[in-house]
Amino acid sequence: MDAASPARRQILIGMDALDGNAIAGWLFEGFGSEMTTVVGRCKHCGTRSLIAELAVYTRAPGAVARCRTCGNVAMVLVKIRDSMHVYDDAFELLR
Ligand SMILES: [Zn+2]
Repeated sequence: MDAASPARRQILIGMDALDGNAIAGWLFEGFGSEMTTVVGRCKHCGTRSLIAELAVYTRAPGAVARCRTCGNVAMVLVKIRDSMHVYDDAFELLR
């Protein structure tokens, strides 16, 4: 029985995380297409997941999306003036 790892993950991710659907509009703005159904790979731990499955924390004027497996930051979105900047260096999009 491995009760420790879900608990540890809960600490990393927290109870207040949203999912990738929360930033669907911003992603659309940044990439110019629907992104929540795109699969990516976390460069920290190698886990593949849908963008919709990332743990998202919105924090004006942007958002941070973390890998649910290792808790590391996968994507950062920042709104600067009127344009959306997406930093996805740690999340390899598999399209
Ligand atoms: Zn990861």
